[in-house]
Amino acid sequence: MARRKLVAGNWKMNGSRAALAELDAIASAAEAAPNVDVAVAVPFTLIAPAADRAPGLAIGAEDVHEADSGAHTGCVSAAMVQEAGARFTIVGHSERRADQGETSQDAWAKAAAAHRQGLNVILCCGETEAERNAGRAERVVQAQIEKSVPDNADGSWFTLAYEPRWAIGTGRTPTVDEVASIHAIARAKLRMLIGDAADGVRILYGGSVTGENAAVLLAVENVDGALVGGASLTAAKFVPIIEAAAGL
Ligand code: PEP
Repeated sequence: MARRKLVAGNWKMNGSRAALAELDAIASAAEAAPNVDVAVAVPFTLIAPAADRAPGLAIGAEDVHEADSGAHTGCVSAAMVQEAGARFTIVGHSERRADQGETSQDAWAKAAAAHRQGLNVILCCGETEAERNAGRAERVVQAQIEKSVPDNADGSWFTLAYEPRWAIGTGRTPTVDEVASIHAIARAKLRMLIGDAADGVRILYGGSVTGENAAVLLAVENVDGALVGGASLTAAKFVPIIEAAAGL
């Protein structure tokens, strides 16, 4: 099944109102690439101004709480980010798993909460370097998918991102064969869980994607786009990735 490529940025805890000027050239590149979906997840405080500044881009959150509302000091709900202008949220990012101790069950609950509020979801999975070195990458990713993908997931709102933790922000990437192998396994696992709907779910690769390596990574079978951290912070680095996706 043909799936549109999705190039999604993740600004993490970076950015400012001044940095939103980067979105102008990113929005222009997105407009010039009608065969690609472009999205940018920004810190909570920038969602509203980013959505106002770049109405043609899908602006998203980097996380949401699993509850719809309540006594959760310092947390932000899916309804809140949706009201601020977010169209999607990332859940289960490895930095939240590492820094906040989030589990695959948490990612599942957050994905469900986001879907209840009409948000699209990018759910992250990926092994650590120790797990890969121990030959456990496939099993770890399969288990994460099994525990975190909601039963009603389909491509209309749900995207999976495979992000090997050791490739995030390190400048290192898996080989094409390693990416192909995990993406095939992820697709098969999705198929076991949600049946034919798995064919419509995009599976992004994430981890040190740049303008230089994007074309090669995006050409791998079952790679339906990229989740991009560092290189999404400036248009100069992000636009070449959008263009690489558009040229495929
Ligand atoms: C990420 O954090 O999702 C990511 C892929 O980061 P980077 O592109 O910087 O490796």
